[in-house]
Amino acid sequence: MTSRLRLYSAPILALLLIAAFSAGCSQQQQKPSEAIGTDKPSSETSRSAATQPAASPANRADLGSQPNINGNQVMQCVKEVVAFGPRPPGSAGHEKLEQYIVSKLKGVDVEQDKFTAQTPAGQFPINNIIAKFSGKKDGIIVVAGHYDTNYPLPKTYVGANDGGSTTALLLALADHFRGKQLDGYSVWLVWTDGEEAFVKWTDTDSLYGTRQLAHQWQQDGTAKKVRAFILVDMIGDDDLDIQRDTNSTPWLTDVVSQAATDLGYQSHFFQQTIAIEDDHIPFAKIGVPVVDLIDFDYGYNNVFHHTPEDTIDKLSPQSLAITGDVVLRTIQLLNAR
Ligand SMILES: [Zn+2]
Repeated sequence: MTSRLRLYSAPILALLLIAAFSAGCSQQQQKPSEAIGTDKPSSETSRSAATQPAASPANRADLGSQPNINGNQVMQCVKEVVAFGPRPPGSAGHEKLEQYIVSKLKGVDVEQDKFTAQTPAGQFPINNIIAKFSGKKDGIIVVAGHYDTNYPLPKTYVGANDGGSTTALLLALADHFRGKQLDGYSVWLVWTDGEEAFVKWTDTDSLYGTRQLAHQWQQDGTAKKVRAFILVDMIGDDDLDIQRDTNSTPWLTDVVSQAATDLGYQSHFFQQTIAIEDDHIPFAKIGVPVVDLIDFDYGYNNVFHHTPEDTIDKLSPQSLAITGDVVLRTIQLLNAR
């Protein structure tokens, strides 16, 4: 995904170091590195840190079961997504991926929000795919991530992290919620489309799917029911460092921070502060609480972002699982509020 990044001017770049507690996670996390044999020492370190016992206020029985997303399964799914090749709107790869996502949601209440976008490169079909899991509490928690890849990039670009990682993570979340009676809020998973610019990122050449969806939800009253819009983007980087985004809602960001701390993953979250323009912005503009979980430091100085180097070998099952678990814990904390 391409979020236009506005780093604060370098001399005053706010590096907010969060106190480096060493709480941990008592979940029984598998060892994806052993299963695939390609892990790197950095991930090994972070994963072992995450297996320390946690002494956290959120180890409360009322939160529900400990999140335990299977990173290897998510990784396998990313591979299948990437195998479709480039996936910009209107492409064969995009169409195959739409069918793939919908095929994985059998038995789930799925809505497809299809429309034609006018872009500087012409007209393109856009399709937001929404999977709905109903809960007992009045309100909706949305977890979203884009599945399109960037249109102008070379045909060798497959967007393993930017597009692929979140497409797969949302499918894993669908598996998590499938067939469950949710005691908390309803959860809607949204594979957003047309997030990327067609020519050059501007307010009008970007976020096609979510601008349309936010407008629709404002019109039909859905927006008022959304308690939180949690966006995930580029969260597969083996060196996972998700920044604190100043365009996100502070209290919701704090809930995510609590979730990460509960699970012992806080070293991967919010060590730096930046301002991100991404699919959460159209919803922030209409008053929905939003948070963007994005690692916009993909390779040294984000060097892999929007290049043919954005490939599967840069990702790790651990990062995918960490993000998925923190999203699930965030939902648990929101349900308990
Ligand atoms: Zn992008």
